Amino acid sequence: MNNMRKNLNRVHEQIVQAASACKREPDSILLLAVSKKKPASDIRQAWELGQRDFGENYLQEALQKMEELKDLDISWHFIGAIQSNKTRNIAEAFDWAHCIDRAKIARRLSEQRPAELGPLNVCIQVNIDHESSKAGIELAELPELAHAIHQLPGIRLRGLMTIPAPQESFDLQRSAFAKLAEALESLRQQGIDCDTLSMGMTQDMDAAIAEGSTLVRIGTAIFGERV
Ligand SMILES: *Cc1c(COP(=O)(O)O)cnc(C)c1O
Repeated sequence: MNNMRKNLNRVHEQIVQAASACKREPDSILLLAVSKKKPASDIRQAWELGQRDFGENYLQEALQKMEELKDLDISWHFIGAIQSNKTRNIAEAFDWAHCIDRAKIARRLSEQRPAELGPLNVCIQVNIDHESSKAGIELAELPELAHAIHQLPGIRLRGLMTIPAPQESFDLQRSAFAKLAEALESLRQQGIDCDTLSMGMTQDMDAAIAEGSTLVRIGTAIFGERV
Protein backbone atom coordinates (compact mmCIF):
# COMPACT_ATOMS: atom_id res chain seq x y z
CA MET A 1 0.00 0.00 0.00
CA ASN A 2 1.31 3.45 -0.75
CA ASN A 3 1.41 6.15 1.90
CA MET A 4 -1.64 8.03 0.76
CA ARG A 5 -3.82 4.96 0.99
CA LYS A 6 -2.38 4.05 4.38
CA ASN A 7 -2.80 7.57 5.69
CA LEU A 8 -6.37 7.92 4.49
CA ASN A 9 -7.27 4.52 5.89
CA ARG A 10 -5.72 5.44 9.22
CA VAL A 11 -7.64 8.71 9.40
CA HIS A 12 -10.92 7.00 8.52
CA GLU A 13 -10.20 4.40 11.20
CA GLN A 14 -9.48 7.15 13.73
CA ILE A 15 -12.80 8.84 12.91
CA VAL A 16 -14.63 5.53 13.40
CA GLN A 17 -12.90 4.95 16.75
CA ALA A 18 -13.46 8.47 18.05
CA ALA A 19 -17.10 8.38 16.96
CA SER A 20 -17.81 5.02 18.53
CA ALA A 21 -16.15 6.14 21.78
CA CYS A 22 -18.92 8.72 22.12
CA LYS A 23 -21.66 6.71 20.42
CA ARG A 24 -21.84 8.85 17.32
CA GLU A 25 -22.30 7.73 13.74
CA PRO A 26 -18.98 7.99 11.84
CA ASP A 27 -21.00 9.06 8.79
CA SER A 28 -22.04 12.22 10.61
CA ILE A 29 -18.45 13.47 10.38
CA LEU A 30 -17.17 14.79 7.06
CA LEU A 31 -13.47 14.43 6.38
CA LEU A 32 -12.04 17.55 4.77
CA ALA A 33 -8.57 16.86 3.34
CA VAL A 34 -6.47 20.00 3.79
CA SER A 35 -4.17 20.13 0.77
CA LYS A 36 -2.49 23.52 1.19
CA LYS A 37 1.13 23.55 0.00
CA LYS A 38 0.69 20.10 -1.50
CA PRO A 39 0.73 19.47 -5.27
CA ALA A 40 -2.32 18.79 -7.41
CA SER A 41 -0.99 15.28 -7.99
CA ASP A 42 -1.50 14.51 -4.26
CA ILE A 43 -5.10 15.68 -4.49
CA ARG A 44 -5.66 13.53 -7.56
CA GLN A 45 -4.27 10.52 -5.73
CA ALA A 46 -6.52 11.10 -2.71
CA TRP A 47 -9.50 11.62 -5.06
CA GLU A 48 -8.81 8.27 -6.71
CA LEU A 49 -9.01 6.73 -3.23
CA GLY A 50 -12.47 8.21 -2.77
CA GLN A 51 -11.77 11.52 -1.03
CA ARG A 52 -14.04 14.29 -2.40
CA ASP A 53 -13.73 17.34 -0.10
CA PHE A 54 -10.51 19.37 -0.15
CA GLY A 55 -9.53 22.48 1.80
CA GLU A 56 -7.19 25.21 0.62
CA ASN A 57 -5.89 28.33 2.43
CA TYR A 58 -4.24 30.35 -0.33
CA LEU A 59 -6.34 31.60 -3.18
CA GLN A 60 -3.82 31.72 -6.05
CA GLU A 61 -2.46 28.31 -5.16
CA ALA A 62 -5.99 26.90 -4.98
CA LEU A 63 -7.09 28.36 -8.33
CA GLN A 64 -4.06 26.86 -10.01
CA LYS A 65 -4.82 23.40 -8.64
CA MET A 66 -8.49 23.71 -9.59
CA GLU A 67 -7.42 24.38 -13.16
CA GLU A 68 -5.24 21.26 -13.15
CA LEU A 69 -7.99 19.15 -11.58
CA LYS A 70 -11.05 20.44 -13.40
CA ASP A 71 -11.79 16.96 -14.77
CA LEU A 72 -12.52 15.79 -11.19
CA ASP A 73 -15.70 16.32 -9.26
CA ILE A 74 -14.35 17.97 -6.10
CA SER A 75 -16.01 19.93 -3.34
CA TRP A 76 -13.64 22.85 -2.65
CA HIS A 77 -13.51 24.52 0.77
CA PHE A 78 -11.73 27.82 1.36
CA ILE A 79 -10.28 27.68 4.88
CA GLY A 80 -7.98 30.71 4.82
CA ALA A 81 -8.46 34.33 5.81
CA ILE A 82 -10.61 36.26 3.32
CA GLN A 83 -9.69 39.80 2.25
CA SER A 84 -12.17 41.91 0.31
CA ASN A 85 -10.25 41.64 -2.93
CA LYS A 86 -10.54 37.84 -2.88
CA THR A 87 -14.27 37.48 -2.39
CA ARG A 88 -15.18 37.35 -6.09
CA ASN A 89 -12.86 34.43 -6.85
CA ILE A 90 -13.97 32.60 -3.73
CA ALA A 91 -17.66 33.14 -4.49
CA GLU A 92 -17.16 31.84 -8.03
CA ALA A 93 -14.85 28.88 -7.44
CA PHE A 94 -15.60 27.36 -4.03
CA ASP A 95 -18.43 25.37 -2.44
CA TRP A 96 -17.63 26.38 1.13
CA ALA A 97 -15.88 29.22 3.00
CA HIS A 98 -15.05 28.46 6.65
CA CYS A 99 -13.50 31.65 7.96
CA ILE A 100 -16.14 34.36 7.83
CA ASP A 101 -15.64 36.93 10.59
CA ARG A 102 -17.00 40.18 9.13
CA ALA A 103 -20.40 41.19 7.79
CA LYS A 104 -18.76 43.09 4.96
CA ILE A 105 -17.03 39.96 3.63
CA ALA A 106 -20.27 38.00 3.96
CA ARG A 107 -22.20 40.64 1.98
CA ARG A 108 -19.62 40.67 -0.79
CA LEU A 109 -19.63 36.87 -1.06
CA SER A 110 -23.42 36.89 -1.21
CA GLU A 111 -23.54 39.58 -3.92
CA GLN A 112 -20.81 37.96 -5.98
CA ARG A 113 -22.03 34.37 -5.79
CA PRO A 114 -23.22 33.29 -9.26
CA ALA A 115 -26.93 32.43 -8.94
CA GLU A 116 -26.64 29.23 -10.95
CA LEU A 117 -24.29 27.74 -8.34
CA GLY A 118 -26.77 28.07 -5.48
CA PRO A 119 -25.77 29.62 -2.16
CA LEU A 120 -22.16 29.34 -0.96
CA ASN A 121 -21.94 27.35 2.29
CA VAL A 122 -20.26 29.38 5.02
CA CYS A 123 -19.14 29.04 8.62
CA ILE A 124 -18.42 31.84 11.04
CA GLN A 125 -14.95 31.61 12.57
CA VAL A 126 -14.92 32.04 16.33
CA ASN A 127 -11.75 32.96 18.23
CA ILE A 128 -12.61 30.65 21.07
CA ASP A 129 -9.46 31.27 23.16
CA HIS A 130 -9.34 35.06 22.67
CA GLU A 131 -5.93 34.90 21.00
CA SER A 132 -4.81 38.24 19.64
CA SER A 133 -2.90 36.49 16.85
CA LYS A 134 -5.96 34.67 15.54
CA ALA A 135 -8.77 35.58 13.21
CA GLY A 136 -12.37 35.04 14.22
CA ILE A 137 -14.94 36.86 16.30
CA GLU A 138 -15.56 36.70 20.02
CA LEU A 139 -18.57 34.65 21.10
CA ALA A 140 -20.30 37.81 22.30
CA GLU A 141 -20.35 39.11 18.72
CA LEU A 142 -21.75 35.91 17.27
CA PRO A 143 -25.52 36.48 17.42
CA GLU A 144 -25.34 39.78 15.56
CA LEU A 145 -23.14 38.43 12.76
CA ALA A 146 -25.13 35.19 12.49
CA HIS A 147 -28.42 37.06 12.13
CA ALA A 148 -26.89 39.38 9.51
CA ILE A 149 -25.59 36.43 7.47
CA HIS A 150 -28.86 34.59 7.82
CA GLN A 151 -30.55 37.35 5.75
CA LEU A 152 -28.18 37.09 2.79
CA PRO A 153 -29.49 35.21 -0.25
CA GLY A 154 -26.21 34.22 -1.89
CA ILE A 155 -24.67 32.45 1.08
CA ARG A 156 -25.99 29.89 3.50
CA LEU A 157 -24.88 29.87 7.12
CA ARG A 158 -24.00 26.25 7.87
CA GLY A 159 -22.39 26.70 11.27
CA LEU A 160 -19.25 27.57 13.19
CA MET A 161 -15.54 27.01 12.79
CA THR A 162 -12.65 27.38 15.21
CA ILE A 163 -8.91 26.78 15.60
CA PRO A 164 -8.29 26.58 19.37
CA ALA A 165 -4.97 27.34 21.01
CA PRO A 166 -2.83 24.17 20.97
CA GLN A 167 -3.27 22.04 24.11
CA GLU A 168 -1.59 18.80 25.04
CA SER A 169 -4.32 17.46 27.25
CA PHE A 170 -7.42 15.85 25.81
CA ASP A 171 -9.63 17.52 28.43
CA LEU A 172 -8.35 21.00 27.67
CA GLN A 173 -8.81 20.33 23.96
CA ARG A 174 -12.36 19.25 24.64
CA SER A 175 -13.27 22.26 26.71
CA ALA A 176 -12.53 24.69 23.85
CA PHE A 177 -14.60 22.61 21.42
CA ALA A 178 -17.42 22.32 23.93
CA LYS A 179 -17.78 26.10 23.92
CA LEU A 180 -18.21 26.13 20.15
CA ALA A 181 -20.78 23.33 20.31
CA GLU A 182 -22.71 25.27 22.93
CA ALA A 183 -22.65 28.37 20.75
CA LEU A 184 -24.07 26.44 17.80
CA GLU A 185 -26.85 25.08 19.99
CA SER A 186 -27.69 28.57 21.15
CA LEU A 187 -27.91 29.82 17.55
CA ARG A 188 -30.30 27.00 16.78
CA GLN A 189 -32.45 28.00 19.71
CA GLN A 190 -32.59 31.49 18.23
CA GLY A 191 -34.12 30.01 15.10
CA ILE A 192 -31.00 29.95 12.95
CA ASP A 193 -31.02 26.61 11.24
CA CYS A 194 -27.42 25.38 11.01
CA ASP A 195 -25.79 21.99 11.21
CA THR A 196 -22.01 22.28 10.98
CA LEU A 197 -19.23 22.33 13.57
CA SER A 198 -16.01 22.71 11.59
CA MET A 199 -13.50 21.73 14.26
CA GLY A 200 -10.64 19.31 14.74
CA MET A 201 -7.26 19.06 12.99
CA THR A 202 -4.56 16.37 13.02
CA GLN A 203 -3.57 17.07 16.64
CA ASP A 204 -7.00 17.44 18.23
CA MET A 205 -9.43 15.55 16.06
CA ASP A 206 -10.52 13.02 18.72
CA ALA A 207 -11.45 15.76 21.19
CA ALA A 208 -13.35 17.64 18.48
CA ILE A 209 -15.36 14.55 17.58
CA ALA A 210 -16.11 13.93 21.26
CA GLU A 211 -17.66 17.40 21.36
CA GLY A 212 -19.78 16.97 18.27
CA SER A 213 -17.60 18.00 15.33
CA THR A 214 -19.35 17.36 12.01
CA LEU A 215 -16.37 18.30 9.84
CA VAL A 216 -12.72 17.65 10.66
CA ARG A 217 -10.04 19.50 8.70
CA ILE A 218 -7.07 17.15 8.36
CA GLY A 219 -3.84 17.98 6.53
CA THR A 220 -0.71 16.42 8.01
CA ALA A 221 -2.18 13.00 8.82
CA ILE A 222 -3.22 12.59 5.17
CA PHE A 223 -0.55 14.37 3.13
CA GLY A 224 2.41 14.32 5.54
CA GLU A 225 4.29 17.27 7.04
CA ARG A 226 4.25 20.55 5.15
CA VAL A 227 7.51 22.31 4.37
C1 LIG B 1 -3.61 23.81 7.86
C2 LIG B 1 -4.95 23.81 8.42
C3 LIG B 1 -5.57 22.61 8.83
C4 LIG B 1 -4.90 21.26 8.81
O1 LIG B 1 -3.94 21.17 9.81
P1 LIG B 1 -3.18 19.79 10.15
O2 LIG B 1 -2.63 20.04 11.50
O3 LIG B 1 -2.12 19.64 9.11
O4 LIG B 1 -4.17 18.71 10.13
C5 LIG B 1 -6.87 22.70 9.29
N1 LIG B 1 -7.54 23.86 9.36
C6 LIG B 1 -6.98 25.02 8.97
C7 LIG B 1 -7.76 26.27 9.06
C8 LIG B 1 -5.67 25.04 8.50
O5 LIG B 1 -5.13 26.20 8.15
